[in-house]
Amino acid sequence: MNVKTIIDEILKHDKNANIELIKKAFKFAKEAHKGQKRMSGEDYFIHPSSAALILAGYGFDDNTIAACLLHDVVEDTDVDTNTIKNEFNEDIANLVEGVTKINLLTKVEKRVRNAEAVRKMLLAMTKDIRVVFIKLADKLHNMRTLQHMPPEKQRMTAKDALEIYAPLAYRLGLAGIRGELEDLSMKFLYPEEFNELRTKIPRRLADRRQVIDSNIRIIKRELKRHSIVAEVKGRPKHLFSILSKMKKFEKTFDEIYDVMAYRIVVKDVETCYGVLGIIHYLWKPMPERFKDYIASPKANMYQSLHTTVIGDDGYPIEIQIRTKDMNKIAEEGIAAHWRYKDMKGSVKFDRKLSWMRQILDWKKESKEAGEFIDNLKLDFFKEEIFCFTPKNDIIELPEDATVIDFAFAVHSEVGMHCSGAKVNKAFVPLNHELTNGDVVEIITKKNQKPSRTWLGIAKTARALTKIKKSIKDSANIPAKQIIKKRALKERQRESIVVVKGLPNAEYRLPRCCNPLPGDNIKGYVIKSGVVSIHKSTCNKVPKLESGPVIKKMVTWRDDFNGDLKLAVLCNDRVGLLLDMVNTIAHTGTNIKGANVKFLGKQLAECSFEVELVNLEHLKDLIRRIMKINSVIRVFIGEDQS
Ligand code: MN
Repeated sequence: MNVKTIIDEILKHDKNANIELIKKAFKFAKEAHKGQKRMSGEDYFIHPSSAALILAGYGFDDNTIAACLLHDVVEDTDVDTNTIKNEFNEDIANLVEGVTKINLLTKVEKRVRNAEAVRKMLLAMTKDIRVVFIKLADKLHNMRTLQHMPPEKQRMTAKDALEIYAPLAYRLGLAGIRGELEDLSMKFLYPEEFNELRTKIPRRLADRRQVIDSNIRIIKRELKRHSIVAEVKGRPKHLFSILSKMKKFEKTFDEIYDVMAYRIVVKDVETCYGVLGIIHYLWKPMPERFKDYIASPKANMYQSLHTTVIGDDGYPIEIQIRTKDMNKIAEEGIAAHWRYKDMKGSVKFDRKLSWMRQILDWKKESKEAGEFIDNLKLDFFKEEIFCFTPKNDIIELPEDATVIDFAFAVHSEVGMHCSGAKVNKAFVPLNHELTNGDVVEIITKKNQKPSRTWLGIAKTARALTKIKKSIKDSANIPAKQIIKKRALKERQRESIVVVKGLPNAEYRLPRCCNPLPGDNIKGYVIKSGVVSIHKSTCNKVPKLESGPVIKKMVTWRDDFNGDLKLAVLCNDRVGLLLDMVNTIAHTGTNIKGANVKFLGKQLAECSFEVELVNLEHLKDLIRRIMKINSVIRVFIGEDQS
């Protein structure tokens, strides 16, 4: 393949794409892979360049396509990420690094057959969704050339493609990639059925050509008679979707008639229903097959009318009716037709994707926004990691969780007697922090029990509660050690309040009364040595820890200058995050990080790490955020309750 093929494809979508960059990446990767061969005997470079061509066909940006050309360079040649950063740019280097990381992970996880977990993990590990798109193009090209691999490898790769990558592609709106991945997998996993359908479908289409053409002609004629402008198309179904249907309804191919799907695209919603009326007047509808996804769209925003009618020859005709906009979403948006119905937290997961989608759209719309987002760290999935037991059960944990948290998550008895652990077969101490994909084996001892130091190690509420409960009755060891540890952790944070007589006190702003700058405040030194700050009108003396509390004079620090975490409680709605980011950015505030947590049905908490000049700056910021539609409250700091 030559570079012109790729460039021509890119220019079809973006006249202003950076062609020099593509040429450079092409040359660089070709040179780096020089001498390497594919199993087919071809030059290795045919692989990354073919993958890049796939992405170019979808209109991806120049950095993504360049990164795709370079995607195997770090893993398979002497070139490192730093070189890519220097030769190209940081964005491309990050993308290549992301793909390399995923490759390493999926190698480790080969033995894990829980496809759902791997899919979730892939997304969780990927800070930039474009990494997943590159991975999908990589996978698709490997599937297209799979015949050169040994049979065992073929089956493994095809299974992965079917169970992990095809659903991922569909979910991310790449319906074409999904269809091809499924059909190619079928070729290796169900060769008999594949060969049967591959010969029978074209024959069926040929046999029914006249009927199909006549159906389209009839539809077009009727619509014209009603002065409706519409695009009417017939599209043969994918092999795999026909096979799925045969399996689901336990039918042979001869018993399945609809190998064709018809699509009618019109200008607006009213016309959709008008067309539906015309179709149902023309042919008899099968009532149980009618679905109105316009009135009730799918969670992924997919909208369309689906109906099946009985054609003149007695065979069913499947028809989808939608507007141009709906068609665009169906083809390019996250048009996933399936959901993780049985998975806990799946709704949250879908919401995260839809938020991410909005951000990406925003980025596409304006260059300015694009640059801003590049500098903004958005860690949608950052709060959770996925680890495995030796039996490959998945344990979901917060990001900085330790071995102790893992032990308690497995079972409280395991936690109580946890004496050590092996992570990826190597011994580690109890305070070892876990990362995505770790395989953790907990070592227990019968007479082991939780100690006070565990409180400084465990991060999850589940573990902390159990540990506290267990040591409650045991000897009162001074809490000094814990305080020291905490103080060390917080040492670089400048305080937003001044506590009289305690210049370097650690403080927290509990959410019971939510004190904000401008409010009169008071403080209590609670048992652990932390100063708990409340509104002076708050009558809830902190009950966080038992024992006496000491009241302290506290004031806001006017000259506060530094980073602060703001949490915004809000009702989730489309475009909310963008409104918030815009509002903050318009005050000239630097956002160092952003995160979204979904709390309940409609409730979300967005947190922002912001850089502040002084207290007045913070007040102004909070005022503006509170004005945003659907924001409920703003809190300073993390939830301590
Ligand atoms: Mn590759």
